[in-house]
Amino acid sequence: MEKPKAFVRKEKCLACGGCISVCPQDAILMVISKALVNKEQCNSCSICVKTCPIGAISWEEEPL
Ligand code: SF4
Ligand code: SF4
Repeated sequence: MEKPKAFVRKEKCLACGGCISVCPQDAILMVISKALVNKEQCNSCSICVKTCPIGAISWEEEPL
């Protein structure tokens, strides 16, 4: 089964850019002042999830 991909909760994102600078896959972009994960590039390493200072990144398949 495919691993869940990182997912940014846009309403929380403060556009600090921290996740973008640490992603080893260059899978995160800033779009209109919100981070956005390119699922095709994400390898589920979890670095961004641990890096985001306000917990705005979690996993796509995580139950609400
Ligand atoms: S989980 Fe890893 S590869 Fe995926 S967006 Fe976050 S830092 Fe990048
Ligand atoms: S680290 Fe968190 S707050 Fe900063 S740009 Fe990424 S998702 Fe947004």
